[in-house]
Amino acid sequence: MALSLVVLIKQVPDIQKVKFDVEKGRVDRSSAEAEINPFDLNALEAAVEIKEKLGGKVIAISMGPPQAEAALRDALSRGADEAILLEDSRFAGADTLATSFTLSYAVKKLGKFDIIFCGEKTVDGDTGQVGPEVSEHLNVPIIPYVSKILKVSSEGITASSEMGDVSCTFEARFPVLLTVTKDLNRPRLPSLKDKLRAKKAEIKIWRADDLADVGDLSRVGYQGSPTSVYKVVVPPEKERKGEIYTHSERAIERLVDVLRERVAHIAGQR
Ligand code: FAD
Repeated sequence: MALSLVVLIKQVPDIQKVKFDVEKGRVDRSSAEAEINPFDLNALEAAVEIKEKLGGKVIAISMGPPQAEAALRDALSRGADEAILLEDSRFAGADTLATSFTLSYAVKKLGKFDIIFCGEKTVDGDTGQVGPEVSEHLNVPIIPYVSKILKVSSEGITASSEMGDVSCTFEARFPVLLTVTKDLNRPRLPSLKDKLRAKKAEIKIWRADDLADVGDLSRVGYQGSPTSVYKVVVPPEKERKGEIYTHSERAIERLVDVLRERVAHIAGQR
């Protein structure tokens, strides 16, 4: 039985470079290049490895603006077989609930699916809510924070998760949703040939109307979003200071003195 493996992929700005527009209270997406959310690369790699072992098809789905097509092409170059972009002005302004409804409608529209892979969170929104919400809407079990896949067959999966100090092993029959951590694997790098193939590949575009037969469109986009952002505060950057103590300056004694002074200073502030 060929497995149907769905990977949910979000395009995010390069978090090392992106700037925040303090006046508008939002991320200035034009200040940095966009890329696949790093955890979603681990999700994709897991799906592709399972396909290579057991056979099947990897379908990457993203909800986003037209530019998110680039993230899907990247996913195709890394082993996805199909890519679907959910793009419509009616999807705009979505909070995590509306995002997860939209994504779950797209999965429903696919028909059969065995595993849905998500990142544990994104590096921009960082809520970690979308994966669990999708599993709830589709009424499938979830294995969260997967750091190791122990066994996988055409019927089910055994995986272990790290949750703080606790390590758990879960077994689930398909269909199931997994959220994955960066410890799961090392995402492959696409070859030039793979990139060229992906450049020419078809990206399916699904609009809101395409989901009307499987979902309730009042739950997508801004109108389906109960969350409103009241205020965004950018924490002040902490000043960092570096000092080098060399051996000739009796480094250890000086370091101990400096640490004593700092501790006394902090204690004095309390
Ligand atoms: P997480 O829950 O941390 O992501 C977990 C995993 O879910 C990811 O690793 C990935 O596998 C999957 N995933 C998440 N998002 C997507 C996606 N879009 N496609 C495919 N897979 C995904 N953002 C905008 O870009 N434009 C807006 O206009 C906008 N308006 C908003 C309005 C409100 C009131 C709020 C609260 C948020 C808004 N956002 C908007 C942010 C948007 O809701 C989040 O980007 C989105 O819901 C994902 O949340 P997250 O980044 O915390 O994902």
